[in-house]
Amino acid sequence: MARIVMKFGGTSVADIARIRNVARHVKREVDAGHEVAVVVSAMSGKTNELVGWVQDASKAEGSNLNIYDAREYDAVVASGEQVTSGLLALTLQAMGVNARSWQGWQIPIKTDGAHGAARIAEIDGSFLIKRFGEGQVAVVAGFQGIAPDNRLSTLGRGGSDTSAVAIAAAVKADRCDIYTDVDGVYTTDPRIEPKARRLSKISFEEMLEMASLGAKVLQVRSVELAMVHRVRTFVRSSFEDPDAPGMGDLLNPPGTLICDEEEIVEQQVVTGIAYAKDEAQISLRRVADRPGVSAGIFGPLAEANINVDMIVQNISEDGKFTDITFTVPSGDLDKALFVLGKVKETIGFDAVQSEPGMSKVSVIGIGMRSHAGVAATAFKALADRSINIRAITTSEIKISILIDGPYTELAVRTLHSVYGLDKQ
Ligand code: ADP
Ligand code: ASP
Ligand code: MG
Repeated sequence: MARIVMKFGGTSVADIARIRNVARHVKREVDAGHEVAVVVSAMSGKTNELVGWVQDASKAEGSNLNIYDAREYDAVVASGEQVTSGLLALTLQAMGVNARSWQGWQIPIKTDGAHGAARIAEIDGSFLIKRFGEGQVAVVAGFQGIAPDNRLSTLGRGGSDTSAVAIAAAVKADRCDIYTDVDGVYTTDPRIEPKARRLSKISFEEMLEMASLGAKVLQVRSVELAMVHRVRTFVRSSFEDPDAPGMGDLLNPPGTLICDEEEIVEQQVVTGIAYAKDEAQISLRRVADRPGVSAGIFGPLAEANINVDMIVQNISEDGKFTDITFTVPSGDLDKALFVLGKVKETIGFDAVQSEPGMSKVSVIGIGMRSHAGVAATAFKALADRSINIRAITTSEIKISILIDGPYTELAVRTLHSVYGLDKQ
């Protein structure tokens, strides 16, 4: 007997027929004698719809400003997962499986007070362990918890992955299975590059980079938790026949295992390519070059909760001025320009230029630590396709390149091929 946490994403629970299929996956594990807790997302598209309603409802008449009360945002958007948890419990009951749905506050999944992007602070596993003892499948609403102010909180987009891994850690599960609409983690998004290959294993570090650089197959925080708490996490498909051979394999189910790099025998130099669309570039021209300037610019942006990403600074010939270029999510561009407008006087710069619609394409691989020339290969390949590079950042195991949005797909495919990641 094992203890398994199974998480099903939005497309996997998109309608009642799919929920029935999910229930068959759950029943398979229950019939095999395992203790099972299930975490569900909202039906696909639901959370977007709810977010849209929040934005519409909070706009003053005639205004375009997207600013809303995060506590009420949470109250609204958490409702999608409440629906699917109840529906899956009902479906399981109809199949003769003892199941009950639970909301985040009932477990409770305690979070910090950052409404809209809360972090899980604590989960006492005993509530769910008691359910296992009663032979009950607990169906938990993902993405939500309860904040110190006693109100519902949500964990940021894609947060059900994090709910699942956190629950798996809290109940010391043998495995956490993240069921989604692809059958594992690929060398790049298979929707963009059909030649992408499925990885049987990927290291925690690489998965962290992939996720934080745009591969939304796992939420970043879920990978961090899996790494810290040593949760054996698999990404696998909910669309496969639940009773196909091997689906119930205890140690090596079909899918991608997220694991320590030592567990990976054949390490490639480059493991994958990730991309993030909808980045905006902001350039501040002729900024006075003196100590404290960067703090004066990026401090207020951070206070406004704007996530600044790539930063490039260039010093003028006479050493008196500097140009500073950086990126923010396109959705935060207006807010960023507003904040910069307020600090312009104190900092002193000539002009702000901005451009939305940029993309960041990243090459990721632990093998880069010990191989030279990986970046040069990327630059040459993009140049051969006449793709202009606007900014570059690197770390030990990744290179990120900012380009114009319309070239995203071409750049992803070009890099995927130049590092030999295409399917044979
Ligand atoms: P869910 O609703 O199940 O949480 P998501 O849409 O959040 O699913 O994540 C799955 C999607 O992630 C896939 O459909 C795929 O398009 C995308 N994706 C991006 N990069 C990758 C990658 N490297 N490997 C697999 N899927 C990826
Ligand atoms: N439903 C939430 C979202 O769409 C959480 C999740 O699916 O993981 O972001
Ligand atoms: Mg997701």
